[in-house]
Amino acid sequence: MRKYDIAIIGGGIIGFGTALGIQRKNPKLKICIIEKDDVVSNHQTGHNSGVIHSGIYYKPGSLKANFCVEGRASMAEFCQKYNLKYIKCGKIIVAYTEDEIPRLQNLYERGIANKVKGLEIIGPERIKEIEPHAVGLKALYAPNTGIVDYKEITEKYAQISMENGADVLLGTSFESFSDSRDSGDLVLETSNGEICSKLTINCAGLQSDIVAKKMGINPKLQIIPFRGEYYNLIPEKKDLVKGLIYPVPDPAFPFLGVHFTKTVHNGLVEAGPNAVLAYSREGYKKTDINIRELLSTLSFPGFIKFGLKNWKTGVSEINRSYRKSVFVKDLQKMIPDVKSEDLESGGSGVRAQAIGSDGAMIDDFAIETTDKSIHVLNAPSPGATSSLVIGNYIAGLALEKISLD
Ligand SMILES: Cc1cc2nc3c(=O)[nH]c(=O)nc-3n(C[C@H](O)[C@H](O)[C@H](O)COP(=O)(O)OP(=O)(O)OC[C@H]3O[C@@H](n4cnc5c(N)ncnc54)[C@H](O)[C@@H]3O)c2cc1C
Repeated sequence: MRKYDIAIIGGGIIGFGTALGIQRKNPKLKICIIEKDDVVSNHQTGHNSGVIHSGIYYKPGSLKANFCVEGRASMAEFCQKYNLKYIKCGKIIVAYTEDEIPRLQNLYERGIANKVKGLEIIGPERIKEIEPHAVGLKALYAPNTGIVDYKEITEKYAQISMENGADVLLGTSFESFSDSRDSGDLVLETSNGEICSKLTINCAGLQSDIVAKKMGINPKLQIIPFRGEYYNLIPEKKDLVKGLIYPVPDPAFPFLGVHFTKTVHNGLVEAGPNAVLAYSREGYKKTDINIRELLSTLSFPGFIKFGLKNWKTGVSEINRSYRKSVFVKDLQKMIPDVKSEDLESGGSGVRAQAIGSDGAMIDDFAIETTDKSIHVLNAPSPGATSSLVIGNYIAGLALEKISLD
């Protein structure tokens, strides 16, 4: 049986960020990363918007706020150090109606409280200077927001962690666990045989609640998968957008609101994502259905409460998902020149959004621990931005447990 000090389940950006954090703190520890797919970053990490967020949105004092500002700086530094794609393109969050202006001002104040540098409230003329095709009454300008390729970054994390001695076990799915009778360590049953570890860290993203349950934890939440669909601006129209253009978010649903995102891929511009219930945890297409997972979502009391409270928003997201004209109308608020024929269908991603049994959407990162395990149960955006800092934080928790052991 293969033996490790620490086994990490999940080869996404949080799993590998954690591996690097552990190696930085104690290079002698023997660790492995178990990934069920044959490649790394095949899920949320490889299907996101590629933005290095600056830390404006998050409640001061929350883990998100604490990790994002430091995370942005460390991510930019990492990309520069390893010569990975990174453009500091800046972002404007635009108010289109008078009633959005106080919310914009609140965001500015949050950003200042979170120590985000360089923030400015700007008017229509400055909006035009930054984004010549955009309109709006006022905007919050965040010059330090950048864009990257999180798949490329995670591949680099994986390469460094292997050079530092970690074993990356691809095509290896965690199935169940038991306590080893002689040593008291955990025995993980995987699709490729047993692995013994002193400590296990669950970074399984969309499957993290299922993995936690299999390890004897009973989290008072469930991962609900929300698919986000993108359109791409056709190459001839990519100059309509210079950086990132976002609407003012609804505080109740901070991840809603389609936006324009320039990418590091030859200036390609994405528009989106929306957020519709996915009928499968890894369902990237409208037609992907996993009956068992769908039933588990629909029968979860927390989701029923959430659905009853927010069904109108859900219906409008579905409407926008099926009707391009509605999607385009939202985009035209930001850039009136954009036309339906300028947009072609793009990719999609599935967000792992934890919802509590009480029906509340869990906003902050959520981590639960036991003596021999750590479970990352909610790592939504800005999880990728913050991955090196989250990784360090989890590594700190892990080392405390190993030393107690
Ligand atoms: C549409 C979208 C847009 C986003 N945009 C941004 C953005 O612009 N900026 C930002 O900072 N964040 C963004 N995010 C959030 C960010 O992508 C996530 O916070 C981050 O990728 C989470 O990483 P993870 O490692 O926790 O999860 P994942 O990347 O999902 O990785 C989990 C891994 O665990 C593996 N796994 C699951 N079960 C098992 C098992 N039983 N055995 C072995 N392996 C298993 C999976 O195969 C997967 O590879 C976005 C997310 C989405 C979906």
